[in-house]
Amino acid sequence: ADAIDSTFVSSVGEYVDRFEAMMCRYTGASYAVATVNGTAALHMSLILANVKRTDLVITQPLSFIATCNAISYIGAEPVFVDVDENTLGLSAEKLEDFLKKDCQKQGNQAIHKKTKKRIAACVPIHTFGHPVNLKKLVEICEDYAIPLIEDAAESIGSTYLNRHTGTFGLMGAFSFNGNKTITCGGGGVIVTNNKEIAKLAKHLTTQAKVPHPWEFVHDF
Ligand SMILES: *Cc1c(COP(=O)(O)O)cnc(C)c1O
Repeated sequence: ADAIDSTFVSSVGEYVDRFEAMMCRYTGASYAVATVNGTAALHMSLILANVKRTDLVITQPLSFIATCNAISYIGAEPVFVDVDENTLGLSAEKLEDFLKKDCQKQGNQAIHKKTKKRIAACVPIHTFGHPVNLKKLVEICEDYAIPLIEDAAESIGSTYLNRHTGTFGLMGAFSFNGNKTITCGGGGVIVTNNKEIAKLAKHLTTQAKVPHPWEFVHDF
């Protein structure tokens, strides 16, 4: 209400900074960057994880379409690995099976044998706020050097081993859409503990404008 009364309703400014600081405090993440929605937070996270159009991205079939849409916006292709009956999220066992049987390590990369494509990221979802088996998924992804991006759209307020969901992967994406735990009508946030990623996320989500008093130069 205060933001609206001030008439300073914008994608930048004091209220956005405060919102990001509150998200850091609440989740325990070092950095938070606001986005227009959860889909944009996922899309941006995939770009920041260096996913390219020729890549594959592992995710789960039980989700909302936004997860796959974000992957598609890059031109990359989703690969579905089934969910675990207990968590309703990506099964660590099935992921390990898939990587062992269908992929091979080439240098520091996991390559899908059949398509020869790179596995560029893994995006599990905390379905209905139930945390996935993060401990095991983090281990497997580290073993194969696959960036882990948590689709935490539905899991604000959910913790795993006393740590907030979204803070275990390289990045976590939250949503504040009308159907989520907390809503701003629409909105999203990327959380990360990586300073470089946070800096680049802020730059890209604010049109990649190079600071200058009058020139509009966008470097990305
Ligand atoms: C809601 C949701 C999103 C997308 O968030 P929006 O803010 O609606 O763009 C992504 N993933 C999951 C799992 C969701 O439930």
